[in-house]
Amino acid sequence: MPSRYKHDRPMSLQQFEKLFPDEDACARHLVKLRWGDGFVCPACGGTKGWELKGDRCRRECADCGRQTSVTAGTVMHRTHLPLKTWFLAAHIVATHSNGISALQLQAQLGIGSYKSAWLLLQKLRRAMVDPDRSVLQEIVEVDEASMPFREGRGAEGRSKKGRSAEGKMLLAGAVELSEDGKPRRIRLKEIDDYSADSLQGFIADVVEPGAQVVTDGWSGYSGLPGNPHEARVIGDQEAHKVLEWAHRVFSNLKRWAMGVYHGLRRKHFQKYLDEFVFRWNRRRHRATSFDRLLGIGLELKPVTYRDFVEGRA
Ligand SMILES: [Zn+2]
Repeated sequence: MPSRYKHDRPMSLQQFEKLFPDEDACARHLVKLRWGDGFVCPACGGTKGWELKGDRCRRECADCGRQTSVTAGTVMHRTHLPLKTWFLAAHIVATHSNGISALQLQAQLGIGSYKSAWLLLQKLRRAMVDPDRSVLQEIVEVDEASMPFREGRGAEGRSKKGRSAEGKMLLAGAVELSEDGKPRRIRLKEIDDYSADSLQGFIADVVEPGAQVVTDGWSGYSGLPGNPHEARVIGDQEAHKVLEWAHRVFSNLKRWAMGVYHGLRRKHFQKYLDEFVFRWNRRRHRATSFDRLLGIGLELKPVTYRDFVEGRA
């Protein structure tokens, strides 16, 4: 991470333009981040590589001869768009506190087609889930909620009926609290129902064994195998007073979904949840989300438009 933006304030657009005025500046940034500590060939592990003449974005392995692009394993893999467009898109997505729709992104970047803007946004969103992220610790509020979903035509060009007759999507949420009751990190996951299997599966995935779990006492949470459990039975108290932060997260999520996306579509529900979680967990570190959005350091598998549309990505 270059020290110039190693602080928690997001870059201004002017700062961004100064840092990344052109393709070459973007390429140099990528080369520094990916090969700054030395080149490693993904094919043979060789550590000696030659820069190809006139193309600082490619290295040829001195051992096996394979050429590697600096964008391999990032969201920009085999892109036809200029690096500057990706950088600017990542900057916009990282600095907008609320996020941005594909339509807005298309307008801001001057991209020709809605489809390109949509795909770009999907690829940036993919980088929002860290496969190695750690489990929540200490005290964790866990709750469940439902949201109505939006029917309609998207970039995939057809509308689709949801599984649920009621037109609701269900989710489970967890909020990690500090000892003095302040929220730290959150996790959200789409679930099929409110059964013990679904809810306890969620807890097993996202909460560290032994951490204190606080719920509203719904039967689906009773008998947690790996965690001490405090059931704050609601009784006459209103639910939002019992699990204050879980309720605040859910209501922020619902406002965000309506405000930015005019409701969420079922097909991409988990991806929207991942975006919300990413923003929440980095709410005080927005500047540092930029490189992450570009997928640097993640080694993403390459995906195509069809992978997104057909739900494989
Ligand atoms: Zn090699």
